[in-house]
Amino acid sequence: MVARDTARQRPTRESLSTFKSSKAYCDWRSRVQAVGGCARPVKLLRRETTRTTLPHSGLQVRTTAEDRSVWVRCGTRRAAACPSCSARYEQDAFHLVRAGLVGDEPKGVPATVADRPTVFVTLTAPSFGPVHSRPGHRPCACRAWHREADPRLGSPVDPDTYDYETAVLWNNHAGALWADFTRRLRRTLAHAGGLTIRESTEVMKVSYAKVAEYQRRGQVHFHAAVRIDGPTGPGSRPPAWATVAVLTEAVRAAATATEVDAQRADRSGLILRWGGQLDVQTIATGPADRSGPDPSAETAQADRSGSAETAGGSAGAVTSGGPGTVQAVSPGSVQAGRVASYIAKYATKSTGVTDGIDQAVTSEADIAASGASPHAQAMMRTALHLAESPHLADLRLDRWAHMLGYRGHFLTKSRAFSTTFAALRGTRAAWQIAQHQLDMGGPDVLVDVDWSVIGFGYRTAEEHHVAAQIAESIATRAKDRRTGAQGRQPLSTTSQHTSGAAA
Ligand SMILES: [Zn+2]
Ligand SMILES: [Zn+2]
Repeated sequence: MVARDTARQRPTRESLSTFKSSKAYCDWRSRVQAVGGCARPVKLLRRETTRTTLPHSGLQVRTTAEDRSVWVRCGTRRAAACPSCSARYEQDAFHLVRAGLVGDEPKGVPATVADRPTVFVTLTAPSFGPVHSRPGHRPCACRAWHREADPRLGSPVDPDTYDYETAVLWNNHAGALWADFTRRLRRTLAHAGGLTIRESTEVMKVSYAKVAEYQRRGQVHFHAAVRIDGPTGPGSRPPAWATVAVLTEAVRAAATATEVDAQRADRSGLILRWGGQLDVQTIATGPADRSGPDPSAETAQADRSGSAETAGGSAGAVTSGGPGTVQAVSPGSVQAGRVASYIAKYATKSTGVTDGIDQAVTSEADIAASGASPHAQAMMRTALHLAESPHLADLRLDRWAHMLGYRGHFLTKSRAFSTTFAALRGTRAAWQIAQHQLDMGGPDVLVDVDWSVIGFGYRTAEEHHVAAQIAESIATRAKDRRTGAQGRQPLSTTSQHTSGAAA
């Protein structure tokens, strides 16, 4: 609580200059720089045991003093919580997804993944009642014309009839829907090749990277890159029959058939499905900077449904075809680098729905203090209400009320898709250890280190203020360096997704 209060205070000019002229300031500043201006660094105390590889070498134990604590980044993905760490998370997420699309040899992902059948899929929630939508295009269900910035967008036209209970239960089961979808996808693909699932694992492997995102109406939806490899993953070839067209068709079939059983508070049964809006696009990874037009795009073109009502732009207001009739809309081809940057961006994007809500809300007072929109507050209230039903206790809806019921991760991938965050960060850690060993007099010194946490974040308004300035200047320098860099542009070819997020 103290940390949050000092974070909101504004230091005076005098207190800032006193802070900056203090004896400890230089050292403090370099520590903040070392963690990239992290908004809430974790302070650790290290206990070192040093020995050499020489026989009978003496054991040396050192414990760092309190004021020599080591700082590490908070590591959050949330831009609202820590701009510096979320920017790094976004970069790592970008490399992680990109590696799965075009390869990254140093990280153990062969460049041949670029030749594998890969599609970019968007899966959304169905409608739980009409919501204010369609900014600028045509009148909303409420008959008004909404501006893009209208705060009513995404909220129910009639909150009294909106199915809040199913909306929250759907978010809570979104991870289960994804799991069911991937099971069905593997089965459908196996059948396409005339194989059983067991037989199919001997000739191919399906991998994916996916990101969860909140739509304005508070429902989670998923964007995913799905790829077919041979049986041992990225290094092996899938069977010839496993084409982009087959994958596209299998994704559509699996999404349409996906079903998860749930229960309402009154114990009545509920079958949860994806919404009627499905987007499947080929990912172009041609050799010409991996961004040329993809020859297989034409196979996806065959699925063009002719629907101009793209990707969830009005998903909340209309039920297109009802459950079980998932349509593929706006097929086409997108570039691998753009998909990677798009997924990475959404992994860190502020939700606009649950912004600034770090912790579980457990009471009406917490909800009121959350600052969330009335619609999001109604979803939180519904979650807490559902949590009171003993037969729904396993859903942990009290723990996840602040996430509007969603309890999954924001960026996930199957093991074979690409490299890992650990591998990406391992490179940095390995470098740090190497530096340390050099400092200790050569690579034959072994250091065992124990860590204990002694604190978080900054103590005063002055520290918060200066740390934020440091983070900002680091970000500006990084941006300058990146200017003109390839593959970091917005995903313009699928701009319908971003407007889709408005649903
Ligand atoms: Zn941080
Ligand atoms: Zn409206």
